[in-house]
Amino acid sequence: MNLQRYVVGGRRAGPRLLITAGVHGDEFEPMVAVRRLAEELSGPVINGTVTLIPIVNEPAYLLGTRMAEDGLDLARTCPGNPRGTVTERVAAALSDAIRSSDYYIDLHTGGSCLRLSPLAGYMLHADERVLDEQRSMARAFNLPIVWGTSPELEGRSLSVARDAGIPAIYAEHGGGGSLERRVIEDYRSGCLNVMRLLSMIELPAPPSRLVHQVEDRRLGSGYLQVRHPAPFDGVFMPDVVVGQPIRQGEVLGTLLDPSSGRSVEIQAECSGIALMLHVAPRVKLGTGLAVILEIVTPP
Ligand SMILES: [Zn+2]
Repeated sequence: MNLQRYVVGGRRAGPRLLITAGVHGDEFEPMVAVRRLAEELSGPVINGTVTLIPIVNEPAYLLGTRMAEDGLDLARTCPGNPRGTVTERVAAALSDAIRSSDYYIDLHTGGSCLRLSPLAGYMLHADERVLDEQRSMARAFNLPIVWGTSPELEGRSLSVARDAGIPAIYAEHGGGGSLERRVIEDYRSGCLNVMRLLSMIELPAPPSRLVHQVEDRRLGSGYLQVRHPAPFDGVFMPDVVVGQPIRQGEVLGTLLDPSSGRSVEIQAECSGIALMLHVAPRVKLGTGLAVILEIVTPP
């Protein structure tokens, strides 16, 4: 499978940077940002090469949903299989593109269901050189939260980069069914800021927007979909917003089953910052309703 891509630069020596959007088919701001970058970067001479893929998961995008018709999450399917189902084939093509790069940025949002506080994240790589480059890239991307999490998660685009020893970051921002121009602009400038860090373009350094830099080595720490699982099917009504400080035990929202009347308040498992909320009201048993960013310091 060939993923539609735009390659800019290549006339001067420098690193090969890969930027991808649309690993999930319902995350639209990254697609717009990457498309704009492809146009913007086609003019100036840059050091090295940037490969831009505006819609990795085109089969899912065509449906307007997170996943394609085989029901596989592309971010759980890498490195995929070139002779497998549609998502497995996309995963294989994406994995090839990642392995042919020196640096990688993967842009996401909360899609139709989730809302996220702006963050740049990376895996806590065992190789200190890779880890340091990832820390620098995530800081340079210039969102308020930088989040390093346990490197054990499999199936992600970043798992492929990890195994290949390629410094890689991802970004999360917004989501919840609307399209926000602020997210597009933050992603566009974030990618340019990383290019500046890698000496690919000359730009003035922006003032830092960093508020929290957290590294969390606990197993599964970067897994967004499993925290505060819904105890039954129903309608989730959040009482907090992303980015808000949260105290342990605070009520994050109420889950109600309108048919039975059963209702429960969802209490915060820990203190920190509201990083993710499930904002699409209808949830199933086990759906992750919220993630709190604990302000832990590295050991
Ligand atoms: Zn995503």
